[in-house]
Amino acid sequence: MDQKQRGILIVFSGFSGSGKGTVMKELMNRYEEYYALSISATTRQPRDGEADGREYFFKTRKEFEKMIEKNELIEYALYVENYYGTPKAYVEEQLEAGKDVILEIEIQGALKIKELFPDTLLMFVTPPDAATLKERLIGRGTEPIDVVNARLSRAFEESLGVEAYDYLIVNDALDVCVEEVHSIIRNEHQKVSRN
Ligand code: 5GP
Repeated sequence: MDQKQRGILIVFSGFSGSGKGTVMKELMNRYEEYYALSISATTRQPRDGEADGREYFFKTRKEFEKMIEKNELIEYALYVENYYGTPKAYVEEQLEAGKDVILEIEIQGALKIKELFPDTLLMFVTPPDAATLKERLIGRGTEPIDVVNARLSRAFEESLGVEAYDYLIVNDALDVCVEEVHSIIRNEHQKVSRN
């Protein structure tokens, strides 16, 4: 295969608490040479253990609005009262270098990306059932209960848009899930329409 083939844009969405972040991290650990993970900008507060420039670029509302004005974001959305957006430059640079770029974003952003770049592969990660979702969200203990509830209600809204996605991935066992995702993406590269 041609090593210089342009990378594919891959969107990962999933309920807050679906474990998609863990799946992404493990995918990167195992197959770093194939993928680049886009780091979003957000106005939400960092959680314990999160670092600026690693999980997110943490911005004030004013800084974020400046990025919008200067057209530095491919897409952005409001999610439970905070802005989240994908910086353009890194994504473009990595695709050009032949890496598949993974965007871990919510549904409005996913639909926007698909509209701008119809070749994007859209995957939706879900926990095996609703009880597991609630358990993971509460168990994580990173948000107060009203935010957990707002996120659960948002999860319900997002579930209504799931048919816009190319794949629905059930995250039951991490290991199986990561291998499944990797093999779907590798197969995508074999599509005649991409070559
Ligand atoms: P969290 O606060 O749990 O880190 O993220 C909340 C939601 O925002 C998640 O569904 C996450 O995928 C989404 N998100 C993170 N970055 C972006 C982004 O750059 N754009 C959009 N549209 N959504 C994002």
